[in-house]
Amino acid sequence: MTAIVRAAGLVKRYGGFTAVDGVSFDIAPARCVGVLGPNGAGKTTTLRMILGMTPASAGSLEVFGLPMPEQGRAIRQRIGVVPQIDNLDPDFRVDENLEVHASYFGIDPATARARVPALLELANLGERRHAKTDTLSGGMKRRLTIARALINAPELVMLDEPTTGLDPQARHVIWSRLMDLRARGTTLLLTTHYMEEAERLCDELMIMDQGRILDRGAPRALTRRHVEPEVIEVRSGDTAGFAAFAERQGCRLEAQGDSLYCYARDSAPVLDYLQRDPGLVYLHRPAGLEDVFLRLTGRDLRD
Ligand code: ATP
Repeated sequence: MTAIVRAAGLVKRYGGFTAVDGVSFDIAPARCVGVLGPNGAGKTTTLRMILGMTPASAGSLEVFGLPMPEQGRAIRQRIGVVPQIDNLDPDFRVDENLEVHASYFGIDPATARARVPALLELANLGERRHAKTDTLSGGMKRRLTIARALINAPELVMLDEPTTGLDPQARHVIWSRLMDLRARGTTLLLTTHYMEEAERLCDELMIMDQGRILDRGAPRALTRRHVEPEVIEVRSGDTAGFAAFAERQGCRLEAQGDSLYCYARDSAPVLDYLQRDPGLVYLHRPAGLEDVFLRLTGRDLRD
């Protein structure tokens, strides 16, 4: 089966700075693949290279089995893009935004007009089809941007932080639409800072930092591979005494401000200890993707 995207040793340098440092990956058809990474990890740059918006400094890239950048035009015809910041045209109505976008793909006006109702339905925007874009809420604009990305019936849709800044209702609607798309066989490649989004939507994740892929796998597989199953966050009380005990039990400890994160394979002895000291305030939870992310990329701020 031809990979939708095949990157080998992909590098992007800006002057002396290496933003993407030799990444290699394949994306199989009809998968939803998420790219996670701290700010500046190289996620957007990788997406921009796949789109041919910025040339790679080294390495090779194939999309739909075609070489990028040589076949850039043909490749872009088959991709839908949802950029990080909505770039809808405020002078046009909702339906016009879709029709104008269709013209960039050489889709004739009659075909474009015929596609618009189904796309607006998918975006829950049917009733707003004649509204000016600048009267829409943030969630509506995002849904319209996604609908617009589908006007050329793309085989691959690339979404850069599709739900950043949206309320939970809007986010859930978008997740459900993206899952529908994937179920219909569209390949999705997205970046996100939301671990819940990555966990719910993505079949596979690539965790990037400093231009490299640190690991790749299904969300659950990554969690099993990198962190212990349970976490106890201790927030106040005699944390030093607790830390000494937890270490003797073989737990792994991470400190962040006044909190102590205790990663345990068997939490029973530490929970027993915590229950005997009422001064210790704690939260016991299963480990998740955020723990993996912080373990692989560290807890230091990046800006
Ligand atoms: P974020 O989560 O903040 O969107 P990102 O992982 O998408 O981050 P990129 O936007 O790919 O990161 O940027 C990777 C690095 O490359 C950053 O250090 C950024 O400052 C740098 N960079 C990106 N574009 C350029 C450019 N045109 N010229 C110089 N440096 C750039």
